Amino acid sequence: MSKKVLVIGESREGSLRNVTFEAIAAANLVSDGGEVVGVLCGDGDLKGMAQEMVYYGAARVITVSNPELKTYTSDGYAQAVQQVIDDESPEGIIMGHTAIGKDLTPKLASRLESGLISDATEVVVEGGDIVFTRPIYSGKAFEKKKITDGLIFATIRPNNIPSLNRDDSLTGAVSEKEVQISNIRTIIKEVLKKSSDGVDLSEAKVIVAGGRGVKSAEGFEPLEKLAEALGGTVGASRGACDAGYCDYSLQIGQTGKVVTPDLYIACGISGAIQHLAGMSNSKVIVAVNKDPEANIFNVADYGIVGDLFDVIPKLTEEIKQMKV
Ligand code: FAD
Repeated sequence: MSKKVLVIGESREGSLRNVTFEAIAAANLVSDGGEVVGVLCGDGDLKGMAQEMVYYGAARVITVSNPELKTYTSDGYAQAVQQVIDDESPEGIIMGHTAIGKDLTPKLASRLESGLISDATEVVVEGGDIVFTRPIYSGKAFEKKKITDGLIFATIRPNNIPSLNRDDSLTGAVSEKEVQISNIRTIIKEVLKKSSDGVDLSEAKVIVAGGRGVKSAEGFEPLEKLAEALGGTVGASRGACDAGYCDYSLQIGQTGKVVTPDLYIACGISGAIQHLAGMSNSKVIVAVNKDPEANIFNVADYGIVGDLFDVIPKLTEEIKQMKV
């Protein structure tokens, strides 16, 4: 049965995050020929980004511009999105499983007295039912969930559901909605930008991650060169972060970021279960470790037993040669 599905878009510094396009693709599937409606909150002119959502498959987009939405707060965004939901009465709502998605969607679900499927890695239609797959037990198993009744409300993990191809011949209405926002209990005094300005880890296609085996902050340099040669970014284990070799914003794992790049190169990482929880769903895993018994080899598609300070520069040179 065709449905109206809202996609809550997310932007950063004036650009939409890729997961917004992935959410539109998931919403198209869930809508089953119905209508996919984008929602975009912020302050100022949101039309350009709204238009991008149309090019990626939203039938129309509602923008909500308000000075109170300049910076994300749970109170502000929940009120704004709820007023759109009240107007639209959708049968489905999809958003990215990002820091904002993880904060906003449970709040909305509770206001709507709805369930929520969080962190879906796949959406398929099985026998007419929409079935979501999501990891459980820190990614050691997957469960399938289908909603038989009521609102279909889900967040999707970035980098798992392919977006539709951008088509700038697509057309769709972009309308503005005015909302009333009050009682924001969070006061944002200042937004500090991270010093690292590489690709966002959760959306990166290639990650070269370093562990305690990297031995120092300088030890990350060969990894940065390899990441640059591959057009990727650098990540880390908690071991490396705890040792002070890098910033905690790079931490991948159970208490860090969950990533699913096309290629994950683990360098000097033992493969503790808490690290695997954040990267074991990567499409191709390469491990470089001098200990042949290291647990990381149990999840790796390709393993190189050796000293990373020998292996990584050679690999970087080979990749550069391939590009010439
Ligand atoms: P180590 O376990 O010390 O491994 C270093 C590896 O480097 C070894 O395998 C060694 O053989 C190899 N090595 C050394 N020198 C070289 C060399 N020259 N060349 C090649 N290989 C070399 N960890 C996370 O990563 N992310 C999390 O989110 C996380 N959350 C946690 C939450 C909790 C509640 C707890 C208790 C722990 C958590 N941990 C997490 C920590 C986790 O248990 C491990 O301690 C940590 O992942 C180990 O980091 P590591 O693999 O870099 O270091």
